[in-house]
Amino acid sequence: MLRVVVLGAAAGGGVPQWNCGCPVCRKARTENPELQSTQASIAVSADGEHWFLVNASPDLRQQLIATPQLHPKAGQLRHSPVSGVILTNGEIDAVTGLLSMREGSPFTIYAHEKVLAILKANSIFNVLNEKNVRRQPIQVDQTFEPVLPDGAPSGIEVLPFAVPGKSAWYLEGKAHPGGDLGEGDTLGLRLGEKASGKYFYFLAACAGVTDDLKSRLAGAPLIFFDGTVWRDDELIAAGLGTKTGQGMGHIAMSGDRGAIGSLAGLDIGRKIFLHINNSNPALLRDSAERKMAERAGWQIPADGTEITL
Ligand SMILES: [Zn+2]
Repeated sequence: MLRVVVLGAAAGGGVPQWNCGCPVCRKARTENPELQSTQASIAVSADGEHWFLVNASPDLRQQLIATPQLHPKAGQLRHSPVSGVILTNGEIDAVTGLLSMREGSPFTIYAHEKVLAILKANSIFNVLNEKNVRRQPIQVDQTFEPVLPDGAPSGIEVLPFAVPGKSAWYLEGKAHPGGDLGEGDTLGLRLGEKASGKYFYFLAACAGVTDDLKSRLAGAPLIFFDGTVWRDDELIAAGLGTKTGQGMGHIAMSGDRGAIGSLAGLDIGRKIFLHINNSNPALLRDSAERKMAERAGWQIPADGTEITL
């Protein structure tokens, strides 16, 4: 049985974002606390005892407190069910949670060399002593099986693959510590259980849906997909920022080349948006945008939602 817990569904900044007075953030602070959401991450387990995080958001500490599946085992002074963290990119909202895991418990960080190079170039991540916290490079198009802290196989197979995207925004205009060439900055993941063959896809950042990606996702029982913005110029139109979704490496939900249209008719069992920015009107349960997304078979999950495959 493959278990997946949505630890957080929001994009960088979360909902509400600390300095934001947009309609969604205002409602989340006042009459609609159910809109509150932490920054995107999921946890995956094949045995229900050992879990792997996909990305470590700045809200990780709060997410671990809110998720009983990830609490230390009763009767143990030091323990965590978290056996590893798989990073799909080097953005702040994907890596800074690692700094909340610095108290000596053993786990493994799995990431592409380009993302590992970013961690290596930032000495603050050295608080994760490599004696306890191994950094394991992963490669595009090469399946790997993450291991438990004692080295035993986890029963989970992960296939990383390159998706259209950008390197972390704080590297814009700067030399990338991992080199400016080649893929690896934005990965999608196929995560499966070896024993049962059950699987799902995780793409929290994706700048566009190619034909290759369509054929990969066709027929999947479950996908988590980039839901950052409803429309590409959303931040500009709302007066919240100067960047388009594309400029940030994110596809829009709507529009001719948006996620909803591009991924329609592919016989995907369950489609869940993740990494949703607080500017996105689809977060509001009674909005026309939310209804359009739901009519097209998409869901916007609450933090803590557990799905079993
Ligand atoms: Zn906002």
